[in-house]
Amino acid sequence: MSGERPLDQLYRLQDRLRFVESRQKERETVPAALTEVDRAYRDRVEAVANLKQRLARDEAERRKGELEAAEIREKQKKYQTQLRSVQTSREYGAVLNEIDGVDKQLRATEDRLLELEEEIESARGDLEKREASLPRETDEHEEKLKDWRTAQRAIDQELESAREEIRRLEDQVPARDRAEFLRLMEKKGGLAIVKVSNNSCSACHVKIRPAALQTLKAGREIVYCDSCKRILYWDQQSS
Ligand SMILES: [Zn+2]
Repeated sequence: MSGERPLDQLYRLQDRLRFVESRQKERETVPAALTEVDRAYRDRVEAVANLKQRLARDEAERRKGELEAAEIREKQKKYQTQLRSVQTSREYGAVLNEIDGVDKQLRATEDRLLELEEEIESARGDLEKREASLPRETDEHEEKLKDWRTAQRAIDQELESAREEIRRLEDQVPARDRAEFLRLMEKKGGLAIVKVSNNSCSACHVKIRPAALQTLKAGREIVYCDSCKRILYWDQQSS
């Protein structure tokens, strides 16, 4: 641990809080290279699902079309029978008209069925190919993500020990100082306590009065920068 002076603890506390914040961000940001990989893989999985859906839709439509065609053929037969028993040429013409209508219906339905047949066949071929390569693609994808998962676990460990230290420091820093420090952290963009360098505030670079410097070096009470109002920290190691 870095000394027993409260300001050392505050400075370390800020350092750990900032560390946790940046590592947390890093942990949650999927590397750009993997975003691409991940999207490409998910596209492939989705393509298989879409194909299956299309196939099911086409097959349902084909079953419906086959039923329709059967009904139309029944009608056809019915009219053919009628045609043999008509009495007048007017009746004859009317039945012929009906037959003409159902013939057209049947042709349209059969054309659609042929189209569906082709669609189903090509979708099945496509699906088969895609499904065959998916297990290998899944393995490759997992492999690519493995390093990232390992990196995340390492970050988790760092975060855990940093948070432990933060808890310990928060217990050690007097409650009033801690409250003031946290208020400043929020107000000053996460930088509440800053080092003195060349007898100046390292955040705003304004010179520190000699009297304030003396108090600072003693390290027992909190001294603020006259200009940016941050807590000043005299680092014994580097001064
Ligand atoms: Zn300052």
